[in-house]
Amino acid sequence: MLTQNLGYPRIGSHRQLKKACEQYWAGKIDFAELNNVARTIKEQNWQSQLDAGIDLIPCNDFSFYDQVLDTSLLLGNVPKRYSPVLSAIKTNTEIDLYFAMARGYQKDGLDITAMEMTKWLDTNYHYIVPEFTADQEFDIFSENIFSEYNTAQQQLGKKAKPVLLGPVSYLLLGKEKEEGFERIDLIKKLVPVYVAVINRLRLQGAVWIQLDEPCLSLDLSKKEKEAFEYAYRAIANRVSGVKLLIATYFEALLDNSLLAVSLPVHALHVDLVRAPEQLDEVLALIPDNLKLSIGVVDGRNVWKNDYEKSLGLISKAVEKLGADRVIIAPSCSLLHSPIDLELETAIDPEIRNWMAFAKQKLTEIDELRQIAEGNTDLLAINQSAIESRRSSKKVHKEEVKKRIAAISDADASRHSAFPLRQRLHHERFNLPAFPTTTIGSFPQTDDIRQLRARYKKGDLSFEQYEQAIEQATIETIRWQEEIGLDVLVHGEFERNDMVEYFGEQLDGFLFTKNGWVQSYGSRCVKPPVIYGDVSRPRNMTVRWSSFAAAQTAKPMKGMLTGPVTILQWSFVRDDQPREITTNQIAFAIRDEVLALEKAGIAIIQIDEAAIREGLPLRKAKHPHYLDWAVKAFRITAGGVQDKTQIHTHMCYSEFNHIIEHIAAMDADVITIETSRSQMELLQAFAHFEYPNEIGPGVYDIHSPRVPGTAEMASLLAKAADLLPARNLWVNPDCGLKTRKWPETKAALENMVAAAKQAREQIKVEG
Ligand code: GLN
Ligand code: ZN
Repeated sequence: MLTQNLGYPRIGSHRQLKKACEQYWAGKIDFAELNNVARTIKEQNWQSQLDAGIDLIPCNDFSFYDQVLDTSLLLGNVPKRYSPVLSAIKTNTEIDLYFAMARGYQKDGLDITAMEMTKWLDTNYHYIVPEFTADQEFDIFSENIFSEYNTAQQQLGKKAKPVLLGPVSYLLLGKEKEEGFERIDLIKKLVPVYVAVINRLRLQGAVWIQLDEPCLSLDLSKKEKEAFEYAYRAIANRVSGVKLLIATYFEALLDNSLLAVSLPVHALHVDLVRAPEQLDEVLALIPDNLKLSIGVVDGRNVWKNDYEKSLGLISKAVEKLGADRVIIAPSCSLLHSPIDLELETAIDPEIRNWMAFAKQKLTEIDELRQIAEGNTDLLAINQSAIESRRSSKKVHKEEVKKRIAAISDADASRHSAFPLRQRLHHERFNLPAFPTTTIGSFPQTDDIRQLRARYKKGDLSFEQYEQAIEQATIETIRWQEEIGLDVLVHGEFERNDMVEYFGEQLDGFLFTKNGWVQSYGSRCVKPPVIYGDVSRPRNMTVRWSSFAAAQTAKPMKGMLTGPVTILQWSFVRDDQPREITTNQIAFAIRDEVLALEKAGIAIIQIDEAAIREGLPLRKAKHPHYLDWAVKAFRITAGGVQDKTQIHTHMCYSEFNHIIEHIAAMDADVITIETSRSQMELLQAFAHFEYPNEIGPGVYDIHSPRVPGTAEMASLLAKAADLLPARNLWVNPDCGLKTRKWPETKAALENMVAAAKQAREQIKVEG
């Protein structure tokens, strides 16, 4: 039985790549030095995989920024606007072009925007979206894959397996940059370049080549299915002497099963962590000549593999196919898991014994093979860890489970319907039309960050730290009053991160020291780990919200993160359905909402920034997800009195297909991100005749640019054309945490002026 890995994290166990890239961008090191760091990381990664006894070890899974961008460069798909980066500036090399595409280029008299970035399927990893034009051509441009294979081969010999994104997914994950053609039709032009790449790798000595085709487990049109058939038949006709493996992940093949097993390649990889149930169907359909790689070790989470469960799947596959046609693998690339659990010396040893990071997952893959071949001692050790987790008091809290089991419809409903609540709110707050507010955070300056760092180090006492945060909060409140904002916020200076802040105060969460995962480019995140039943031992935000409210006569919004967002941005338990964990968080937040209300906070915002991005990959699964996600939000808000106004906020606001569910959340006010789309995203709300109040973002907070009053006033006018003016609020797209003060002040002053203009110029009825 063979084992393989599909990809390994490339940031380095201490984020060496991040640091080196940022130094290179700042001009502090040259490319030779950056490349040395890269080379060391690759060699260490390969060595770990060799040491773990993996048979097929990925290469070309390394990337300085993003593997999809690497593919674009390999295929010579460089948008024309980047031509001057090389042609006009002769000292630039390929890496400068590459980073220009990733990050934009603003020097040497050039000003070229970066390529768009979006989420890699349902992960929190972001890739650079390939751009296609009607006259698109492809041709091998970057030689990186070939030189990386060479290096890998020196260390790994025949075990080195080049990985690249497959041609169909490459097209589907990209975007047409002009009208009049469909990118999938470019497959005919693209295939010859893939053939050339594969043939060169074969001549260099590659035995196996992995082509990632995650789109094979998505909903596909007839034409897209045909593109798969065409591409792989054309490739098979023109290459020989090398084994191709197609990797699918993150979903079941479902209606694409027959298509997938019929593609003329040597092996197919399926994700049995996400979708163990697909094994039966794949085994029933698989032709005699195809090997099956079964992803049994979770590449997306931090938990130790349950060997008994995995062995069940392995023996089923072996029984049908014979051991020599089965490959044991992680479910997907290990890119999405943190690197090395051994560095986590501060985690409670009992809990740490339940966990595995990338390096440990490699060992699991090898051990599974050994057990499948007869070494049962390893199984016993594993099962004792699994049993310890299954029965631990640290995980299981009876009171929490009981409360979740008893959820009623009443828990998830406000007392009265929106129109009545709205009337109470208008009487209570007496706000002008087009009330102005912000989304919560104000700039987290270096001063604030240093404050926290010094406090954590012990250089600052608790009292000193709190006093400094109080000072920042007071100043921000004074300033909001001065410029005439209507509903104020406290600024979130006491928070490092909107999920971590709550995770740290809730039971059932733990935090790692080094559990970094790449989010995009050099940006890494360290998601909290939810290991047990979640409960709230004490108030979390009342202290700061009450303090802030006491500083002003204006309404002060309480500020909480919603359950779906907390779930979405954490490593989650895999021993119970996600919706159960979400409901536990929902009750914890509900209790916090009630504590805020009791403390006199009249407006409470529950951010669900990530609700849209949590949508499952397959449409058929949307309704179930939306049901529990919306219900979780309703639980958080369901306990308050009618006179309390509940806000929510969402970042990624493409709501066309799910608007009825957004409405079902029944927030009194929703603020969304709409400025970059010029209010286009409001169409969905207009068509639906969205009944509640809404604050469409009037300025983009992702850039330091200060929008003018006229610009924002005209966006408001647009919004008022689409929705009743009496329901509109005025606010930025999102929190202001990443901005600097000067631009924030200028932009918000203009925003308040724009709201005043709207009050004068736009008729408000009702
Ligand atoms: N209240 C949060 C903030 O302003 C919301 C952030 C977000 O939506 N990502 O920072
Ligand atoms: Zn946001």
